[in-house]
Amino acid sequence: MSLVDIPHSGGPGLDELVPSRYALQVGAIDVMVISDGVLPIPAVTMATNAAPADLAAWLKDMFLPPDMLDWPLNVAVVRSGGRTILIDSGLGTEFPDFPRAGQLAMRLDAAGIDPASVTDVVLTHLHMDHIGGLLVDGLRGRLRPDLRVHLAAAEAEFWEAPDFSRTNMPAPVPDVLRSTASLFLDVYRSQLQPFETEYEVAPGVMVVRTGGHTPGHSIVRLESGGDRLTFAGDAVFQPGFDQPQWHNGFEHDPEESARVRVRLLKELAASGEQLVATHLPFPSVCHVAVAGDAFRFVPAVWDF
Ligand SMILES: [Zn+2]
Repeated sequence: MSLVDIPHSGGPGLDELVPSRYALQVGAIDVMVISDGVLPIPAVTMATNAAPADLAAWLKDMFLPPDMLDWPLNVAVVRSGGRTILIDSGLGTEFPDFPRAGQLAMRLDAAGIDPASVTDVVLTHLHMDHIGGLLVDGLRGRLRPDLRVHLAAAEAEFWEAPDFSRTNMPAPVPDVLRSTASLFLDVYRSQLQPFETEYEVAPGVMVVRTGGHTPGHSIVRLESGGDRLTFAGDAVFQPGFDQPQWHNGFEHDPEESARVRVRLLKELAASGEQLVATHLPFPSVCHVAVAGDAFRFVPAVWDF
């Protein structure tokens, strides 16, 4: 039997070849990592300060294509203390050039998660690949009116007049990022719950501002019953283990981003906790180990 013989109607996602979700427990906290899909991105964006030969060698070592990469987009749903928390929301569907991303609404349905059951949204930052899903009709119109949207106060403030002078993104990305963040703030302003440095959204679910990638970039730290997991947003990308000093073109402060990354990876290696990050290969659940001046990505064994 070949793959084309497998029934695949292209319907609302219930018969996808791969469900694209992975559930795990962190103590008493339920965690589900959901793939929003993948986004094509120029490989050079992964290492804007690296010599082209070094980047080419790294891509070859990782069995990745030399020019364009598929950038994974992971979202998480966390349940603790009676609250259901969506961490980031993927790309949405307003960008027709990226048809393989923007799957979140369909995959929440496929996972049996009613958008009306979501009590809180935590946003790592306001780049479109993290907030676009909340602007899609299929999700936006089904969220409860008393939804709480948590983000760092510095992030909302930054997007009033964002500075792109240190970024290195392909055109027209900066303009689209600006307009999407501005639309998002207009739509959700009355539901925003800004925090300064950290906020406990639910028992054992703490959102902590790191800065770096954007001034209000934040991570989510889960802790329950001696287990820990960190959702690192865009603090760590795939090259960040081997080459933590490489700058990503989406970083608004690349030097500070590298400091945040190294500090976090060292801490995760010391604590032994699990890591999930937006742009690591799905489901991205892994441990971090120190390897000389760099780090190792150690994938978790899937626990079916
Ligand atoms: Zn991102």
